[in-house]
Amino acid sequence: MKPLNADMHCHSTVSDGLLTPSEIVRRAYANGVELLALTDHDEVGGLVEGHETADEIGLRLIDGVEVSISWGDDQTVHIVALGVDPANAALMEGLRLIRSGRDARAGRMAAELDKVGIHGAYDGALRHAGNPALVSRSHFARYIVEQGHAKDVKTVFDYWLAKGKPGYVEHAWATLDDALRWIIGAGGIAVIAHPGRYRLSRAELRELFAAFRDLGGRGIEVLSGSSKDDEVREFSRIAREFGFLASRGSDFHGPGESWIDLGKMPDLPEDLTPVWSQL
Ligand code: AMP
Ligand code: MN
Ligand code: MN
Ligand code: MN
Repeated sequence: MKPLNADMHCHSTVSDGLLTPSEIVRRAYANGVELLALTDHDEVGGLVEGHETADEIGLRLIDGVEVSISWGDDQTVHIVALGVDPANAALMEGLRLIRSGRDARAGRMAAELDKVGIHGAYDGALRHAGNPALVSRSHFARYIVEQGHAKDVKTVFDYWLAKGKPGYVEHAWATLDDALRWIIGAGGIAVIAHPGRYRLSRAELRELFAAFRDLGGRGIEVLSGSSKDDEVREFSRIAREFGFLASRGSDFHGPGESWIDLGKMPDLPEDLTPVWSQL
């Protein structure tokens, strides 16, 4: 049987994506996606518009959100929540708390960038974000490209915004405990996003997976837009060993800015249980 073309991870203008929720849904449909989850960072505000368009064109849309957490020694880890109730009060309050830290963090980032010759970054990033509660490193990156300091967003991260670079500041997001309580309490399935992108050793990653599973986490992104073949093999093995459901998500942010377009990833290994079988 032909596997379902499911894309369980993408972003709209409601966080740091370049397309509106409606445009994302239309593009996914045009790309052959049969099941889509919109997973903006720490925000569910795009889901109403997404559902309007999805209903109109006949695409099934899953309510999602990508939750930012801090883990260990200032590591940021992302947990994708799928099938959550966007009206759940505790989840909404939790997400609001996470967002409430973004504006002050942006101010601290801009002050650091100013010291290395990138001026006006707070206002510039805010212009791209449209909302201080949603301002992210992606918006800074777009401003820095626009100012002619770098040729693309990826280069900006390499020089200024990745951990250890001059524009990176430490920030406390939610805890893993809180995030899983909110997600599970809102009826959702928690999935570890892009496990290959964290600067954690094999042993540290395993500690994360074990803690995540102990707290009720159920899934892992075996296929992310940025996954390399060896990572797909490694996280397939992890899914089997830990009994995780397998997810597949492009992490699409916009044309020209993302590794891969909506729904354009390979299929999951056949023996894994897709997370969408539980949604
Ligand atoms: P923030 O939540 O403000 O820390 O921003 C994180 C976002 O920055 C991620 O969701 C990605 O969209 C983007 N990002 C992180 N690292 C990179 C990278 N190396 N290249 C391009 N975008 C990145
Ligand atoms: Mn992002
Ligand atoms: Mn992420
Ligand atoms: Mn993402």
